[in-house]
Formats: sequence, structure tokens, C-alpha cells
Amino acid sequence: MAENSGISWTRHTWNPWMGCTKVSPACDGCYAEALMDKRYGKVQWGNAPRVRTGAHTWNDPFRWQRQAERDGDRPFVFCASLADIFDNQVDPQWRSDAFEVMRKTPRLVYLLLTKRPQNIIKLASAAGGLPSNAAIGTTIEDQKRADINVPALIAAKHIVRPEFAFVSCEPLLGPINLREMILDIEWVITGGETDQGGHLARPTHPEWFHDLRRQCVVSGAAFHHKQNGEWMPWRPLDGNPGNKPIQHVMADGSEYYPGNYGSSLQSMIKVGKKVSGRELRGVTYDAFPKVAPL
Ligand code: SF4
Repeated sequence: MAENSGISWTRHTWNPWMGCTKVSPACDGCYAEALMDKRYGKVQWGNAPRVRTGAHTWNDPFRWQRQAERDGDRPFVFCASLADIFDNQVDPQWRSDAFEVMRKTPRLVYLLLTKRPQNIIKLASAAGGLPSNAAIGTTIEDQKRADINVPALIAAKHIVRPEFAFVSCEPLLGPINLREMILDIEWVITGGETDQGGHLARPTHPEWFHDLRRQCVVSGAAFHHKQNGEWMPWRPLDGNPGNKPIQHVMADGSEYYPGNYGSSLQSMIKVGKKVSGRELRGVTYDAFPKVAPL
């Protein structure tokens, strides 16, 4: 699905502006900050002015719309990869303008992924209502964030009527049980963490991915596993050529300490994201939610 984006779960990414403030542990290794602040110096991260992107970027959706009309399909557009669309520190007019572009490009399905789902109802309403071709999603990296963000997402879903609702469990930093909340979720994306600038990726216990996959099998939600991250499972008898870093992770999310050899212990080796790939026990999980043809 990724044509103009390196992200497996979207074809395009669109950034009406850049810049954001960190709000949760999933932000520790913010890719956008590493790229646009630390590397290119285009915007200052945190409580600083956001930077609106130029006319060329704002014209992209219209090009993609014309292409989608020719192809007769409905490509996904992730908005925004370098910001948070429901950031309340941005000029509200920018969000109104972005929503207007979305309404004028109805073949595109906009994925509005946020770490601030508590803002969706208020900010969408202030921007003239959620465009009907937008889906809403929230990042949940552990149970604590799931218990805060998913109820807020579901509450918004019943008010703003998105194409569908989804969660991104990336980087997955602990086990998550979505319980009955999953019945309101059409799509679950999972992924491990990757190194960003000076931030070193934390390992994900493979059972955390599998457990979410099983929850999707039961509920019928589409399951998409993007990547394993920098780490993969390791056993001492595998050896360790090159003396790569090793860490130990407990399936129940409890802290590992030396001498704790419980059955949920998984040792992980840091091999890099290319080597660890995106298969789970040899299978690629690549599902997408269904959207109505126009
Ligand atoms: S919400 Fe997203 S863009 Fe904003 S700081 Fe966190 S990871 Fe970065």
C-alpha cells in the first residue's frame, strides 16, 4: 500500500504543518523531531511555533485525488506524520484549512492519528466538523495509555462519525488488553520501536504483538503488523556473533531483574530493523479496514 510513503499502512503522508509537543512515552523517540528539528532545523520541538508547510505540499492531495479518480480507488493518506492533527497549540485556522482540503478530495481516506484523542470532538467541531472521508485513530503504547486514549477515541467516534476508528500500537512498550473496547475499533496496527537520533529503541516482547493479533481474530478487527523494530527474540544457544546488545523482557510487562527466570521471560537481541523485518513467526500481517467505494 505504501507508494509515496515508507509506511506500510498508508499510501501517502500529508503534513499541513510541522512541529509538536511530547505528551507520552511513545513520543520519547519521536521520528518527526529527530528529522525536522534535530537534523534539518526546520522547526523547534515543544512549546514553540508550529510551521505551516508550503503551497506545493498543500496541492499534493489534489494531485492524489485526480490519480485516484483515474484509478478508481480510495488511497489512504496519513495526516500528519510530522505533527499531531489534534494538537491544540496550532493555529485553529490551519486545521480548518486542512479539513477543507480533505472535503474537496473525497476519494482520499485521511488517517487522523493522534496522541490527543481527548481533543477530537472540540477541535473537529471548531474546524467545521470532521470530514466524512476521515478516519480517527490514537496511539496506545501500553495498557495505561490504552485505558485513557481508547475510551476518548470511542466517545469521539460516536459524535464525529469517522470512516472508521483505529489504534496504532507503535511503539508497543507493554502488553495491552483492549477488552470490550476492541468492538468499536476497526483496525489495529502494531510495531516495534526504532532508533531515532540519540533515542535507543526499547524491545517489544513478541507475545504483546501476538496477543493483539488474537484479540483482532476474535473481534473481527483488521490487523496490520508494520515492523518488529530493532530487536528480535534470542536464545543463548543461538550464540551472539558481533556481541550485539541483549535485553530481557517479561511478557506481563513487569520489570526484569537478574535471577527472574519466569516462564514469561524473553531475551531479545538488537539486530536492526532490516534484519528483524515485519514477519511474526514467518507470517506477514497486512490487513486494512474496508472502506466504501465512492
Ligand atoms: S505526538 Fe507524534 S509528532 Fe508529536 S511529539 Fe509525539 S510522536 Fe512526535
